[in-house]
Amino acid sequence: MTRAALAALLAAGCAAPTSAPASAPAPVRPALTDVARAVPGARLDIRYATKDNFTKTIVYPAARCLLRPEAAAALKGVQRDLAAKGLGLELWDCYRPLSVQRRFWELVPDPRYVADPKKGSRHNRGAAVDATLVDASGNELEMPTGYDDFSAAAHRGSASATPAARFNAKTLEDAMAAHGFKGLPTEWWHFDYSGWEKFPLLDVPLTP
Ligand SMILES: [Zn+2]
Repeated sequence: MTRAALAALLAAGCAAPTSAPASAPAPVRPALTDVARAVPGARLDIRYATKDNFTKTIVYPAARCLLRPEAAAALKGVQRDLAAKGLGLELWDCYRPLSVQRRFWELVPDPRYVADPKKGSRHNRGAAVDATLVDASGNELEMPTGYDDFSAAAHRGSASATPAARFNAKTLEDAMAAHGFKGLPTEWWHFDYSGWEKFPLLDVPLTP
């Protein structure tokens, strides 16, 4: 058989129907990492699983912090560095399912405060965290504002913060930056892991 004939035969074989019927590929459940297990020492205070948030409503069915594995691994490094200084992370929000984003939008259909689910929130990609610092006893450090303060006082480097709050916010920012997390300019508590925009919007449930 000539090489050309063999090539033609192989090509035909590739195109020929196989005995197994073609079917759509099974949806792949994207693996998200549970930070409670992956980041020892980090505290969780998932505010949207409580009424202690700006919507005054329980929006999450479970108080869980899930992240993409690479973001969780980086966060472990942040926590390790902070622990060496007698500090630690307290996480207020991590991955948020897209279906929950739609619920947020029903509650607060205002793009100044909530991302339109058509575009998705950074938290829907599993690479964003809302975090503050705690001391070795778990007490929150003074920060420029409370969580989800939508005023200019929450902007990074805001002059209205006390020197202690500015120092603490900068300590958090530096610790996060050392492991690839970049802070959002308008929210001192929000950080995105490097390359976040390339990760897809996910709708994986928070409950196991
Ligand atoms: Zn956030």
